[in-house]
Amino acid sequence: MYTRRLVITSLLGLLGTAAAGTPAAAARRARAPLPESKPQPPAAKIARRPAVLVLDPGHGGRDPGAIGVTGTEEKDVTLSICKHIQQQLAPRKDIKVLLTRDRDVYVTLPGRVAFAHEHEADLFISIHADAAPNHAARGLSAYSRSERASDTLARQLADRENSVDTIFGFDTSHTDKQTTAILIDLARRHSRNASLLAQRRIVKGMGHEVRLLENPMRSANFAVLRSPAVPSVLIETGFLSNPQDERILRNAQSRAKLAHYLAKQIASVTLDLREA
Ligand code: ZN
Repeated sequence: MYTRRLVITSLLGLLGTAAAGTPAAAARRARAPLPESKPQPPAAKIARRPAVLVLDPGHGGRDPGAIGVTGTEEKDVTLSICKHIQQQLAPRKDIKVLLTRDRDVYVTLPGRVAFAHEHEADLFISIHADAAPNHAARGLSAYSRSERASDTLARQLADRENSVDTIFGFDTSHTDKQTTAILIDLARRHSRNASLLAQRRIVKGMGHEVRLLENPMRSANFAVLRSPAVPSVLIETGFLSNPQDERILRNAQSRAKLAHYLAKQIASVTLDLREA
């Protein structure tokens, strides 16, 4: 049976990444039950681990992201929203929220994906507030990964995001190619379906609370969504190039409200994607 943890552990092992060698990762592997271990107690009696949600505040440090009409920087907006969501969910015992960055630093795109792998995330959500050439474009939208972008705007956004960093790719040159291919394919299909489910649920839920962009279910080839093991969604919370959206995103109170709605939707999906 597929388990995300098994696939992530195998991938890290196969690829010999730094994350696989960390003491925390080794300890987790040591704790992970082997398939041939003793019969397990009934499911109800097993204490479930908290669901792991990795939030990724887009941009940071030398990469400000989009700049709003009055100078608001995307990197500050995304960090603030992610911190709000983390605070909102902090009292809960059933979900653990981790941030790929908690201050104004630059984190590479592969580094963000590797962070989700290292922490065996059940869901990875990258938060953005980009600019669109059409300044009338406004509202929330969510992206899943696809080789083919859903439209020109989607492709332009992904191209700009990806250009800040090298493109993430697994170096599988030194491994058993067939095994790796099967493993990655299996994991990729599972993650793809889970990503689409998460995207649909978040957009539907948010549609009751905030303004959505036209065609809010979008897809593009974002490097930060390329994990084959962790379901991943990129949320454009709004457009800093639109004066009304910028007003909402730069105001601490309205940002907190947006984060409150996001926390509710994202937490519910993360719990449903949690593995025992
Ligand atoms: Zn962005």
